[in-house]
Amino acid sequence: MSEPSIFTRILKGEIPSEIIAETDNAFAIRDIAPKAPVHLLVIPKTEEYRNVVELAADDPDLLAELVGLANSVAAEHSDGDFRLVFNTGPGAGQTVFHVHAHVLAGELDESSLGG
Ligand code: AMP
Repeated sequence: MSEPSIFTRILKGEIPSEIIAETDNAFAIRDIAPKAPVHLLVIPKTEEYRNVVELAADDPDLLAELVGLANSVAAEHSDGDFRLVFNTGPGAGQTVFHVHAHVLAGELDESSLGG
């Protein structure tokens, strides 16, 4: 069996990070290396999906839950407008293969979106 992802370890409290919001099946944290004034991550509690394509195909309700959580943390931490980015594949800058969405708000450095 492979090692738990960094996000699973955060969820279990093995790596320090504040869980700023959660639903039954998803949680949100601040990105450790922010690329925008507001840069949050919304993450399913399960790590069984590596990317958003797998998640959408297998559990669209969980994807919708993730989008709903993104909307509520964006409303709480910014003016409610936000970008939702799923880096998909190493060539697109994905480094953690436990699906997660970047919630970006405020003025951002476009050149750094790929991680
Ligand atoms: P991606 O490159 O799309 O896979 O996104 C992974 C994100 O996780 C990057 O933006 C990292 O800055 C972020 N990250 C990595 N480790 C941590 C951590 N311990 N706490 C919060 N964010 C993290």
